[in-house]
This record gives sequence, structure tokens and C-alpha cells, in this order.
Amino acid sequence: MATINGTQSNGSSGRNAPASNQPCLRVIPLGGLHEIGKNTCVFEYGDDIMLVDAGLAFPSDGMHGVNVVLPDTSYLRENQKRIRGMIVTHGHEDHIGGIPHHLKNFSIPVIYGPRLALSMLTGKMEEAGVMDRTVLKTVSPRDVVQIGQHFKVEFIRNTHSIADSFSLAITTPVGVIVFTGDFKFDHTPVDGEYFDIQRMAHYGEQGVLCLFSDSTNAELPGFTPPERSVFPNLDRHIGAAEGRVIVTTFASSVHRVSMILELALKHGRKVGLLGRSMLNVIAKARELGYMRCPDDLFVPIKQIRDLPDRETLLLMTGSQGEPLAALSRISRGEHPQVQVKTTDTIIFSASPIPGNTISVVNTIDRLMMLGAKVVYGKGEGIHVSGHGSQEDQKLMLALTRPKYFVPVHGEHRMLVAHSRTGQSMGIPADHTLIIDNGDVVELTPDSIRKGDPVKSGIELLDASRNGIVDARVLKERQQLADDGVITLLAVISTDGVMAAPPRVNLRGVVTTADPRRLSLWAEREIGWVLDNRWNQLARNTGGKAPDVDWVGVQREVELGLQRRLRRELQVEPLIICLVQPAPAGTPAYKGRADAEPDSRPAPRGRRDGGRQDGPRQAQPVATPRQQQPAAAAAAATVASPVAAAVIAKPAARAVAEDSEPSGRTRRRRSAAAVPG
Ligand SMILES: [Zn+2]
Ligand SMILES: [Zn+2]
Repeated sequence: MATINGTQSNGSSGRNAPASNQPCLRVIPLGGLHEIGKNTCVFEYGDDIMLVDAGLAFPSDGMHGVNVVLPDTSYLRENQKRIRGMIVTHGHEDHIGGIPHHLKNFSIPVIYGPRLALSMLTGKMEEAGVMDRTVLKTVSPRDVVQIGQHFKVEFIRNTHSIADSFSLAITTPVGVIVFTGDFKFDHTPVDGEYFDIQRMAHYGEQGVLCLFSDSTNAELPGFTPPERSVFPNLDRHIGAAEGRVIVTTFASSVHRVSMILELALKHGRKVGLLGRSMLNVIAKARELGYMRCPDDLFVPIKQIRDLPDRETLLLMTGSQGEPLAALSRISRGEHPQVQVKTTDTIIFSASPIPGNTISVVNTIDRLMMLGAKVVYGKGEGIHVSGHGSQEDQKLMLALTRPKYFVPVHGEHRMLVAHSRTGQSMGIPADHTLIIDNGDVVELTPDSIRKGDPVKSGIELLDASRNGIVDARVLKERQQLADDGVITLLAVISTDGVMAAPPRVNLRGVVTTADPRRLSLWAEREIGWVLDNRWNQLARNTGGKAPDVDWVGVQREVELGLQRRLRRELQVEPLIICLVQPAPAGTPAYKGRADAEPDSRPAPRGRRDGGRQDGPRQAQPVATPRQQQPAAAAAAATVASPVAAAVIAKPAARAVAEDSEPSGRTRRRRSAAAVPG
């Protein structure tokens, strides 16, 4: 509270601020700005919250093992009692893909959306087991729905690369907001569903307070060509093919897929479908009547080999070079049913999303090296965008004539370009806001301003779509990928004595240092921790053995070794130290730490020498087999230090938590902890 009041009363509420007690509409994008993906927008007035879309994004380079990127929804979790419902504009992943996950975390009483989008959403919700968490309600063009007390939403048919897509006119207590959703003006739509320009103009005439408009192609001059314009070019390539035709596109580009099926029919080719999403989307779209074609056009992929090549068309996923998609596997010769033939014509009817360019060109290269004819690239006229360019955006501004303007759905430079387009049409710069995820647009009938931002960021899901990959896990994975991992196994008795030489194991680490030097360094770090940190880490609680914070010991050793490797070798591998506690009284391993002078400048101070961890004179290098029986037994319980790393870490933690520092007990627990 203090923060909010403090911020509101400071200078930022200056020139264009509303009176602080005047109710305002708050519009808060949690995703979709300064990026393409995970569009999620919050509308808030009084006690009502309405959501518009909740999409996902795909991981960028360096997000190892991350499958899906979602916006941080802490704000919605904290305010879930006020969520009255959600509006879905269309069925693309970047608009509906996050919903099944969010339904596990907060409640959305009702979701209104187009038939195709909700049908696709149903599949995802069934998969996630959240069908019972909300109510889905299908809308038709010009339907008006009421959300909470303060929002009345009209669905206005627009044109986009997916069928059944809508713009929204949202009537609120402060005025009408037009939220375009994804759109382009396509006057010859493949499905004959025209953009309801009249309705848009109707709102423009009545007065639109603010326009939130799609900025994806704000840098491109002109109009985006109609979807139909790719038809003759696809027709030409498919008609000219001597052997099989393989086409890849986005499964969700319903119009494109429709045209490809139409062309297959025209050229007497049967269609085999590859890729889960391709099969799903086509099944849903046909079921709902968005695609019309005879059942016998399709042939199960297992029987496709029985057909002559000239009568075969394979339609598949993989247009973005996704490593697991059908076309990528085919290009690597890893697909069980389809191998590339030199007579194949392979058509990329999609353009790479920025970030996927390298994997796409690599896929094209591999297919060409296998001898296929590959048709790709802008010059071929086999792909058009589903998003409007500058002239489309101008037409939208002209129809709606908004008082205020907020460009959305785009990276920063696209938002800037779009705001310039707005200015070229007479919308003053101070009536335009360029915002980021988490920013709050506060609107009153005569003002627009940025309020205090809410928490925003990302949540990363791993392949299971259940586990959240947090910043720490991500950093560890990056470290593993960049510099490898070092595991270090130390045997330390509960009275603070190193009972065996540490065992060091490297995986993926490139270093000039020989293993002997590394284990020497490890030994020094362990020695240093025992000398300087043991008193803090081991507390005498009056029992037989002291209460040792083994995790703390491990962490101290990891930190020390990390610093040393960074300094001496300029590498930063992930370091995992595992301690096997040995019973008190286990004889000390004498160590060889002083065999060579330590060049380390002792950033953490020198050892005090007052402890009983053995003399530090030069000693012959001992191997585990030469150890004292207890230590040797401890070291020998694990055949390989890597196996030990996997087995011992959770067990070592269990020890620290349960304060049972007996070696025998611990080993039993660790055996039990390993899943069969
Ligand atoms: Zn879209
Ligand atoms: Zn989109």
C-alpha cells in the first residue's frame, strides 16, 4: 500500500494524470509486447477483471529443455477472486496455448470465443485434465457478451491466417476500446467470411476511446497480399511436379491447408498427413465445416507407399525446422515411413519465424543434399503473412478513429513503427503509449497514462508441461551446455576429518589441467572448509555426534572450487560436491595438499592450522584402495563417482534435514531414494 500511495503522489502523476480518485480502466498486457508470442491481456475496472487471450511462446536459444514459455501470472493468481471471465480472439497458440496451464493455477469462470478456437482449446484442456475448471461458450459474429458488471464485448469478424478470427469492441464505463486481435484486411477470404468493416466503422463513428492494434508487420509498407494470392503459385509447383509432392506449412493456417487440399484434389493426388498438430487441426476444422473435402482424399501414412508417386501429396509439420517435427526427421533420414526421393518436390509454404531461420535453412540444405527439389523463399509467392502491413494498419486507424492509440502484438521496433503510422494519421504522440509487459495503461474519458507496473516476467515449462524451469535451473542447464560438469566426491567424518582422497569426475569440461591437479585443488578446498567453516557448519547438540550441515559443507566446497577454476582456468563448469559422511573417529586421510606450493592468493583467508585434520606435509599420493578400512569402505560403496552423484545428492540432503549423520543409515536411504 505504502508503495502504491508513494508512487502515485510523486511527480509521475503530473501533466496528463487523471485525478487520483477518478475511476479508470486499467489495461495490463502480461505478454505479447516486445515479443511475438504469449499474448495475454488483462482489462480491469472497479472490482472486475476480464482477460483477453492467454497464449504461449516458444523458447529461444539457451533455454535448454524448455518446451513452452508462459507469462508470469502472479498478478492474476493474487487477484483471482476478481476474474469474471476470458475472451478468446482466435485459435493460434500464441493466443490460447497458455489457458490449460493457467486453469491449474487460478480460476476463470467462463471463456467466450470462436467455435474453431474453443474446439482446439478443448483438445488441449482434455489433455491437461482441466475440462471441469471452466465453462466454454461459443460466439458468432456480432454476438455481444457481458463480463462482470463493467465490460460488454462485441465480436467483430476479421480476417487472419486462421479461420474464425475476431476483433473486439469492448464497451467500458470510460468508453469503447477496440482491440483488433491478429488481423489483416483480406477482401477475398478463402472461406468467404468477410471482414466486418461496417461494424468497425460503426464504432468509429460512435467514438472509440482507444485502439489496441496488431503491430506484427508495422515495418512493412503496403498491404499484405490476400491469402488467395498464393493459390496460383502453389498450383504451378504442384502441377509441375513429376514425383511426390511434400508440402509443409503451419497446421493452424487453416486457409492455406484448405487450398493445398483443394489443389491435391485438382491434381489427382491423395493426401497423407504427418505431424500430430496437422492431424488434429484438420480433423477439427473438417468436423466443424471450416474445410470441405471428400474423406477418400486422405490415405493413412502406412499405406502411402502403395500409391504411385505422381498421385501422392504429403502434408506435414516442420515448416519451422522444429527438430522433432515430421519434415525435420525426414531430412535427417530418421522417419520410419517416409524417405526422401530425388524426384520429390518439397514446398515450404511458410516463412521462418525470427529465431527459427537457422534450423529452417539447415533443414532445406539437408533435403537438397538428399536430391529433392526444394521450393522456398519470398520470391516464389507461396506464402503470405496473416498480419496486416502499414496500409492495413492505416485502414484500421481510419475506420476506428481512436482518441488514444496503443500498438500491441509486436517487438519494440514494430511498436515504434506502428506508433509512427498512427502519428502520420493525426494521432498525437502524447495520445500514444508504447508499453511493455506488466505496464498498466490507465484510461479515463479524457486521459491516458502509464500507471505503476505489475509483476511480469516468464514461466518456463519443461517437456512434461508441468515442471516449472526456474531461473536457477535454466542457469545450471546453460552452464552444463557451455562448460560441462564436475562432480566431486568427498568422504568426511562427522568430527570433521577428511577420510579419503576426493574423487573428481569431469563431463564435458575442456581444460588443460590434468585430473591430478584438479583433485589436488579439490582437496585444498575441502581442507580449507574443514579448517575455517567447520565450527559454523557442525553444531554440538549434546548427542553422540554433532549436527552437521552437510549441504552447507557441499556448498562451501563448490563455491571455493568454482572460484579457483574461474581464476586459474577461466572455465565455469557446474560443480556438484557430494559428501559421504563417515563415522566419527575414522582415521584421517593424510592428504597431499602441500605436495606443491599453493599459488592461491587465499581470498577467503588462510587456514588456522589448529584443527585435527592431519598434518600437511608432503605425502605419497594415496589411492582409495590404500585407505583405512572405514574410509575405503565408504569410498568403495559407489562404483563410479558419476553414479554416486546421481544417487548420493538427495540422500545427502536427507541427512542434513533429518540430522542422521550415520554413514550406514544414509546409504540405505539413498538406495531407497533411487527409483527402479
Ligand atoms: Zn494469430
Ligand atoms: Zn498472434
